[in-house]
Amino acid sequence: MNPAAFDYVRAESVDHAVSALAEHGDEAKVLAGGQSLLPLMRLRLATPEVVVDVGRLADLRGVREDGDALVIGALTTHYEVMNNELVRQHARLLAEATATLADPAVRHRGTFGGSLAHADPAGDLPAVALALDAELVAQGPNGRRSIPAREFFVDYLETALSPDELLVEVRVPKLGSGWGFQYQKLHRVAQAWAIVGVAAAVRRDDGSIAEARIGLTNMGRTPLRAEAVEQALAGTDASNDAALAQAADRAAEGTSPPSDLSGQADYRQHLARTLTRRAVRRAAGLP
Ligand SMILES: Cc1cc2nc3c(=O)[nH]c(=O)nc-3n(C[C@H](O)[C@H](O)[C@H](O)COP(=O)(O)OP(=O)(O)OC[C@H]3O[C@@H](n4cnc5c(N)ncnc54)[C@H](O)[C@@H]3O)c2cc1C
Repeated sequence: MNPAAFDYVRAESVDHAVSALAEHGDEAKVLAGGQSLLPLMRLRLATPEVVVDVGRLADLRGVREDGDALVIGALTTHYEVMNNELVRQHARLLAEATATLADPAVRHRGTFGGSLAHADPAGDLPAVALALDAELVAQGPNGRRSIPAREFFVDYLETALSPDELLVEVRVPKLGSGWGFQYQKLHRVAQAWAIVGVAAAVRRDDGSIAEARIGLTNMGRTPLRAEAVEQALAGTDASNDAALAQAADRAAEGTSPPSDLSGQADYRQHLARTLTRRAVRRAAGLP
């Protein structure tokens, strides 16, 4: 099917994009890589009157260091993220999860910012942004503001961005010595969407787990943090397999996963427990 008719604005700068969004409000949609928006428009599940194409804004592309954070431009493609040396060094979880996402063609067009702004709970990167405690920087008519990942994902496909705001960059804290990472994803075929995914970041200190952050993909209307697991892991002996498994058994608490052709809700809850156990073990350095 073809999309419904729409007006097209090619943004020449971030300010231009923001003023176009402010002018058209709810009637406008940002177009980044188009890998989620265009399919929705073709199915007429999205019918924006105006499309603001930010795809040529080179300022919003690339990765740089800023003190103890990495700053990733919203338009940095998945391909660029997963191959970037700074990301591999300081935010390996993000590189690992991005490498499981879609296929090479989608990864060359789709953007990190687009994945977060789309806020699909089945998307791999929102759970990673939660586990890494990323900060999302939005620019609107009154300037920039920073939104913690925990406050960004508001509801199904809904974020804390207002219609006149553009996501411009994502600040990811560098997690260095003592931290281990793992992204576990069950999908029916390689390069497909997650039935369930688990993003784990675990800090070991003197043989114990000092801190654990666990993000869950496709376990509710938004990406989630598995807080019960995080609390149960704190202070646990990192080599005590039984204690790690007991903590991981709490992964489904507070979740409300969907039931669909890929799996029923109770199956997803079972997967969340199993994948959390695997992700935590590997992130904690166990074989
Ligand atoms: C075949 C296929 C398989 C896929 N498989 C996976 C998968 O396994 N895992 C996964 O996580 N994803 C998957 N995706 C989605 C892919 O990751 C998309 O790239 C991503 O969801 C959206 O990024 P985009 O740049 O294409 O955004 P777009 O499609 O351009 O935009 C998506 C939404 O975000 C908004 N938006 C985009 N950028 C901004 C911004 N800077 N500021 C404000 N709003 C913005 C748009 O208005 C729109 O509502 C798949 C997509 C396809 C087509």
